[in-house]
Amino acid sequence: MDYDYDYIIIGSGFGGSVSALRLSEKGYKVLVVEKGKWYKADDFPKSNWNFKRWLWMPYLRFFGIMKLSIFRHIAIISGTGVGGGSLVYANTLPTPKTAFFNSGSWSKLADWEQELKPHYTEALRMLGAAQNPKLFDGDLGLKKVAEDLDILKKFDSTRVAVFFGEENKTVKDPYFNGKGPDRSGCNFCGACMTGCRYNAKNTLDKNYLYLAQQQGAEILAENEVMDVQPIAKGDGSQGYEVTIKSSTKLFAKSKKITATAVIFSGGVLGTVKLLLKLKQKSLPDLSDKLGEDIRSNNETLISVSSLEKDKNYSKGIAIGSILDTDENSHLEICRYGEGSDAWKLAHMPYVTGSNVVSRLFKTVGKFLKHPVDYFKIYFVNGWAKNTVVLLFMQTLDSTLKFKRNALGQMTSTVSTGKAPTPFIPESIKLVDAYQKAINGVSTSFALETLAGIPSTAHILGGAVMGKDRNQGVIDQDNKVFGYENMYVIDGAMISANPGVNPSLSITAIAEFAMSKIPGKSELEESQSTTINKTVNTDVIF
Ligand SMILES: Cc1cc2nc3c(=O)[nH]c(=O)nc-3n(C[C@H](O)[C@H](O)[C@H](O)COP(=O)(O)OP(=O)(O)OC[C@H]3O[C@@H](n4cnc5c(N)ncnc54)[C@H](O)[C@@H]3O)c2cc1C
Ligand code: SF4
Repeated sequence: MDYDYDYIIIGSGFGGSVSALRLSEKGYKVLVVEKGKWYKADDFPKSNWNFKRWLWMPYLRFFGIMKLSIFRHIAIISGTGVGGGSLVYANTLPTPKTAFFNSGSWSKLADWEQELKPHYTEALRMLGAAQNPKLFDGDLGLKKVAEDLDILKKFDSTRVAVFFGEENKTVKDPYFNGKGPDRSGCNFCGACMTGCRYNAKNTLDKNYLYLAQQQGAEILAENEVMDVQPIAKGDGSQGYEVTIKSSTKLFAKSKKITATAVIFSGGVLGTVKLLLKLKQKSLPDLSDKLGEDIRSNNETLISVSSLEKDKNYSKGIAIGSILDTDENSHLEICRYGEGSDAWKLAHMPYVTGSNVVSRLFKTVGKFLKHPVDYFKIYFVNGWAKNTVVLLFMQTLDSTLKFKRNALGQMTSTVSTGKAPTPFIPESIKLVDAYQKAINGVSTSFALETLAGIPSTAHILGGAVMGKDRNQGVIDQDNKVFGYENMYVIDGAMISANPGVNPSLSITAIAEFAMSKIPGKSELEESQSTTINKTVNTDVIF
């Protein structure tokens, strides 16, 4: 049979982009299908008040780069567009501690820390990782907290995917021997999370995807994969028919394309949602573990706004510094560019408490006690200019499960451990310390205050690794149990809590998975040897 492609990759985030480049280099014909838009530097919004370009809400005709999904136990922000989460992410690339490699459902399948070492090195090279060279007001506040807590040694600037050449100066590709695109030096505008308008952020369209295109890979933006059906034999050994549909046109017809193999790289929300749907009809042999072992980094995201007018907390890269607060936890400082004040619409005074009634009383109490302070941060001082978001993360584990309800929506339940909470004692202490350090007041998402639902930018798992289909959805080479020529390569494969921002790990594990796939010519050679052997055997008999 003539297939349209060797591989169809669903989604162009970290897992999808690595796969696209490595498979094209190996001689395969590759198509990447991406439901989001293809943004160039000038297309990114100047501030997050431009909801149409910032938020992905297709039902309102907003086709931006960030999606907000709210579940019973967790609120998730994620990226959409050619380059996936790299468009909206804060560039931070930490390596997880040893515990990540030795825990979770993948722990017994390999010596992961050792196996992945060269792939982490390659991922850092490809993403253009560099140490942030400059600290600004928000980072200095964190340094002050480190001094106050007597843990200054644990404070550092971040390692990030940003080009730190001469500010705003465009140069020829500095990363890939001239084969990559031109780049410009970062000007520390703080706007990385609304999209870099200066070509300084090393998003995936500037490295993996760019190079994949040079190798012949095709990228189809603004199309969503709706169905994946095995052709002829039900196990995928004869390839797949993939149904796609425009994600931005109002009245679009679906289209079918074929490939010998399929890679699911839609991120946790894309991949798990699609696979849960397909398990009901097109792919019934998927493991029953699908949707289980969903983790965040046990995060809290709490904002602190300074009352001192002479400071500018927008200045810097999105996450400029990091503090290891204990063995299991750390704190990062996040910022938005000046003028990106829209988050204030969703923020209320930060209070803690075991139930909504006590939290509501405390909220009113805070407003009444500090009316001028809150008036200033909401209505006078620029929100982003005066605010940092404290991103607290822990390696401690608890898991959720995603299921599909009768209406076709994904819902969450708690699987193991306690339900995630925005009220983590260590995080509460650090918020207090940071407030004091910068003379600020704290706020958090209304959802946290009102409903006690924590937020995360790091959703992971749902199609984890295991030794067999009873333990996981994929094996140690990312092959899906129950089907041939099918892989999951994205955040859904992450099988333990990294305790740190996960994109570097997703990239490294994707590199590892790709290293296991033979080149097209090697594969064809081995297939023709097998055929020849069969033919010879026939002659002998
Ligand atoms: C504001 C923010 C800041 C962050 N900061 C950091 C950070 O500093 N460091 C870090 O390591 N991580 C950070 N993250 C997290 C990081 O972005 C994600 O962990 C990472 O992008 C996940 O990669 P992935 O390969 O799973 O897929 P994603 O990057 O999530 O990409 C999946 C892509 O698939 C597309 N897709 C989904 N379903 C379909 C379908 N059916 N058909 C076609 N396309 C589909 C989506 O539109 C998306 O573009 C941040 C996230 C956010 C939202
Ligand atoms: S700080 Fe500004 S210029 Fe630098 S990478 Fe972020 S958005 Fe781009």
